Amino acid sequence: MKISIVGTGYVGLVSGTCFADVGVNVTCVDIDKKKIEDLKKGIVPIYEPGLETMIHSNIQKNRLFFTTELKKALVDSSVVFIAVGTPPDEDGSADLKYVLNVAHEIGKHINDYIVVVTKSTVPIGTAKKVKAAVQEELDKRGVDIEFDVASNPEFLKEGNAIDDFLKPDRIVVGTESKRAEQIMSRLYKPFLLNGHPIIFMDIPSSEMTKYAANSMLATKISFMNDMANLCEIVGADITSVRKGIGSDARIGNKFIYAGAGYGGSCFPKDVKAVIKTAKDNGYKLRLLQAVEDVNNDQKHVLVTKIKEEFGDNLEGMKFGLWGLSFKPKTDDMREAPSLVLIEELTKMGASIKAYDPVAQEEAKRILGDKIEYGQDPYDVLIDADALIVITEWPEFRMPNFKVLEKLLKNNVIFDGRNIYDPKEIVENGFSYYSIGRKVIRP
Ligand code: NAD
Repeated sequence: MKISIVGTGYVGLVSGTCFADVGVNVTCVDIDKKKIEDLKKGIVPIYEPGLETMIHSNIQKNRLFFTTELKKALVDSSVVFIAVGTPPDEDGSADLKYVLNVAHEIGKHINDYIVVVTKSTVPIGTAKKVKAAVQEELDKRGVDIEFDVASNPEFLKEGNAIDDFLKPDRIVVGTESKRAEQIMSRLYKPFLLNGHPIIFMDIPSSEMTKYAANSMLATKISFMNDMANLCEIVGADITSVRKGIGSDARIGNKFIYAGAGYGGSCFPKDVKAVIKTAKDNGYKLRLLQAVEDVNNDQKHVLVTKIKEEFGDNLEGMKFGLWGLSFKPKTDDMREAPSLVLIEELTKMGASIKAYDPVAQEEAKRILGDKIEYGQDPYDVLIDADALIVITEWPEFRMPNFKVLEKLLKNNVIFDGRNIYDPKEIVENGFSYYSIGRKVIRP
């Protein structure tokens, strides 16, 4: 089977590589010439554990190809996936211009039956627009070529994307055509052998499923952060509360960690987009508006704690920052809480030296010399007033407190991800601020 994937970002590149790995002939298409030239040479533009090796092996086996020419890629393809970005527009809605541009291009170039699949996260009704865009181009060409549309939202998590794709909890496909359903079943068959389900539904439900999934996950995080803030006020400990509620099977223990807010390329924009969809349809999604508000506030929570310790005047102070990416195991900086923290602290006159195992290049691209960058976790602490942890990379979990004490001017740690045991920190002579737990001093 031959397929094309348009958009070679986190989703397109991982999906394409995983399909190739199970034997599908895949051509990945992107308009970014440099990205495609690099990929042809095996240079991978993003950090995703295991991806580079898999790309190399599939290029070598002649199953994975890269091109900027959609027309060539479409020849003999049974399926074309649209996996381009859907960033938020100014009013919060998903900007569909990239998706619809691709749909028009597909209409200009197909010569045979094909299933046009939206894999990007798109608002309800997008598949209809995709269908109309393809048809418009066919009409302009005066040709009568059959095609179907389908919605196949992607649920992979950056940092664990390959495993998520190869062993999905579920595959959701929205389509109204039996022919498209059969083709999608065949394409996904290799991923279903271990009992992972493929769930077929109508297209609007499939489009909605992706937004509902991300909205639910964002809600869990904001719920825990809201509870954490109350815990601090009333003297409770959110870690104990989490264990207490997580042991209830109806609640479950996953995704209920308090922290300095969610970021990334999905939750913030998808929550905004679904709120906008509701508004456009005359419905107010009150719960999700609160989820977003709580998250926006939560990204400032560490700054409040820093001011509690050092006062309002941070002019001339220096902070060592551990982590930059929005979560561990990715170099993605989109909507990262670190960006809000850095903006606020530098505005108040403080300087920051940061270390991140993989996101430093991406951070330099966004932040330039607004902050300094360190060689390793300890390098950024030399003469710093305090340590701030914003991303819970595994290598930050067991610091050498003796070295920390030597390097830092003050024995203070601000932990935005609750990765340390307060007892251990205090025994090592540090003051410790975390989320939803009492401030501890030696
Ligand atoms: P990305 O920004 O990493 O990649 C998008 C790619 O599309 C870029 O390489 C860009 O050059 C390319 N592109 C744009 N217009 C094009 C065109 N006309 N022709 C060819 N290529 C074009 O985006 P991403 O993070 O992979 O996300 C893609 C979609 O998948 C979004 O809708 C996102 O919400 C959704 N999604 C993302 C994730 C994730 O973890 N990143 C997970 C699930 C779903």
